[in-house]
Amino acid sequence: MKKPFVTKEQLEEIVKEYPTPFHLYDEKGIRENARKLRQAFSWNKGFKEYFAIKATPNPFILQILKEEGCGADCSSMTELMLSEALGFKENEIMFSSNTTPPEEFVKAKELNSIINLDDFTHIDILKELTGIPKTICCRYNPGGVFTISNGIMDNPGDAKYGFTKEQVIEGYKKLKDLGAEEFGLHSFLASNTVSNEYYPVLAKILFELAVELKEKTGVKIKFINLSGGVGIPYRPEQEPNDILAIGEGVRKAFEEVMIPAGMEDVAIYTELGRFMLAPYGHLVAAAIHEKHIYKEYIGLDACAVDLMRPAMYGAYHHITVAGKENEPCDHMYDITGSLCENNDKFAIDRMLPKIEKGDFIVIHDTGAHGYAMGYNYNGKLKSAELLLREDGSVKLIRRKETPRDYFSTFDFCDVLKDMKY
Ligand SMILES: *Cc1c(COP(=O)(O)O)cnc(C)c1O
Repeated sequence: MKKPFVTKEQLEEIVKEYPTPFHLYDEKGIRENARKLRQAFSWNKGFKEYFAIKATPNPFILQILKEEGCGADCSSMTELMLSEALGFKENEIMFSSNTTPPEEFVKAKELNSIINLDDFTHIDILKELTGIPKTICCRYNPGGVFTISNGIMDNPGDAKYGFTKEQVIEGYKKLKDLGAEEFGLHSFLASNTVSNEYYPVLAKILFELAVELKEKTGVKIKFINLSGGVGIPYRPEQEPNDILAIGEGVRKAFEEVMIPAGMEDVAIYTELGRFMLAPYGHLVAAAIHEKHIYKEYIGLDACAVDLMRPAMYGAYHHITVAGKENEPCDHMYDITGSLCENNDKFAIDRMLPKIEKGDFIVIHDTGAHGYAMGYNYNGKLKSAELLLREDGSVKLIRRKETPRDYFSTFDFCDVLKDMKY
């Protein structure tokens, strides 16, 4: 059973100051999980997690992760700017982008971050723009179909990312000729895997390629970046990943492949987003309408603007009615937002306890790719973000949007200049 990390009583206190809807993050859960990840890879001296900022681009969250020893994985100008402002330094920033605008390469180089090239042609682009840095990384795409047991499958051959194998070999040689001294290898083959096998299988592929690259190009390989993709159990019946078992699985592959090749000093990096944050965030909304037509509907004060995953890819997010955790789920509802889009439903045909107007609806696992994916369709304003601190207090870490924010991109427009907010 999935239980919220807040009670109805706590929510009643919180809404006195911060009305629904809001995203609430659990600092304790975030810290404990980050520590467990570090423990899982403590066998590797250079291990570092670069948190994928795109999952939860909030400076207060990033500060917590920084305190727990994480670096920052950026894929855009504003993410680089945020990392810079938070004091992430040089090799604490990974820049893993694709279809990269030139000014972002320039910024990434200016910060001396580790640049992870997405394509062979980016070597020349980077050379022209900034010169080739001493440390450089290439993203590998093995093509074909990637499968592991328990039905996990992804389709790298259809993905826009990375170098082919031949290109990585040629790319390393070329980068070496252009002055690169230390190399990294990166790959992202499957998303949201709920399996302790994904990282070990990926690691083995990358380790074997690293050995081959060392033999064929003679370069010094400094790190292997396993990227993101370790998932979380969105559904209550799913078994969560065991990060300690995952770390052990990667260690086994390391001992099999890297140690015999004399590469025991190679560091393991990760770029997790979802695994670091998703379970430690709730979208909290209030039930404000009930509607009885051909189906039973409950309307919330939150909508897909606050959480897009169900609308965008039919993603399952578990729902708890606060205070009714132990009541029977004997009512079937569609739980909707207010957008003029019929896909604005947080749940369809979901069995829940009877919902009354005013009930707090807790939507689980929204800590990553939740607020971050938000948008402003229908002129809806994005919600606040709150942090539940370890001492039980609540801190505002992003205020909700106001009409002024929404109209701010028209600040040059005379027609709107007398608008009252
Ligand atoms: C999105 C992304 C991640 C994080 O993925 P999760 O599934 O959230 O772990 C890591 N690296 C890159 C390059 C990404 O694009």
